[in-house]
Amino acid sequence: MRAFFWLLLFISFPSFCQYESPENAEIFEYMQLKANDDTASVSVGTVSQGRLKHGKLIPFFGPNFQYFDRDSYLAGRAFLNGALKNTLLDSYDSLFQVFPARLFRIMECSNEEGGELFPHRTHQNGMSVDLMMPLIQNNEPYYGLDDLGAEHYGLSFDDQGRYDKDERITIDFNLVALELLIIDYFAKRNGIRLSKVIIKIELKDELFATPFGQVLKGQKIYVVQGLSPIINELHDDHFHLDFEFPYPTKAPEKHVK
Ligand SMILES: [Zn+2]
Repeated sequence: MRAFFWLLLFISFPSFCQYESPENAEIFEYMQLKANDDTASVSVGTVSQGRLKHGKLIPFFGPNFQYFDRDSYLAGRAFLNGALKNTLLDSYDSLFQVFPARLFRIMECSNEEGGELFPHRTHQNGMSVDLMMPLIQNNEPYYGLDDLGAEHYGLSFDDQGRYDKDERITIDFNLVALELLIIDYFAKRNGIRLSKVIIKIELKDELFATPFGQVLKGQKIYVVQGLSPIINELHDDHFHLDFEFPYPTKAPEKHVK
């Protein structure tokens, strides 16, 4: 019976078993050390000038997702406002129901207490996250570029979303659009709002041309209209999301007569 259980686990969660290795003991220890408390997170200020109180650490991996870089994780750059963390976990859980074999990568989040996260201009109050572009080759998921760690940010894709060193490898735009739709849905369920999507401007046509992209086009999700050349070039291997609380999080000032 016990062997059957492990067999089931192995079949269901190949990504999980893959990371049950001694070299990841440090990751497990870190996750334990930073185990989230129950105190609600507080995001102070804005994504570009802010702080985070009671930040929550995103798990290093789940059944269908993994954080992209050990060093970044252990350096404390994978914290989020709890509402955003829950939004992502709900979203990946939902994606797992639809595409159980598809793996996703979460990239940089925020420092435990927010503030500057060099070289990012935002990611300051736990309400920003970078997500790796899912890739395909011959209509099959492609993971050959997923283990580059921080170097992944330096990858380049052309204006049609083809990898510049091998154009058979392309961005799965339909899946990106679906991810955005699902994340937007669960953001609302968790009391926050997906306020901005940053993606290389030249890739927007490809994104909106897909079946889920067509649906995305009809939603009130703000996808950037223009970016400086440097910021634009950076957002081809990943897309960046900003969130906000749709309502004031503080009670209104008492009316003074
Ligand atoms: Zn970012």
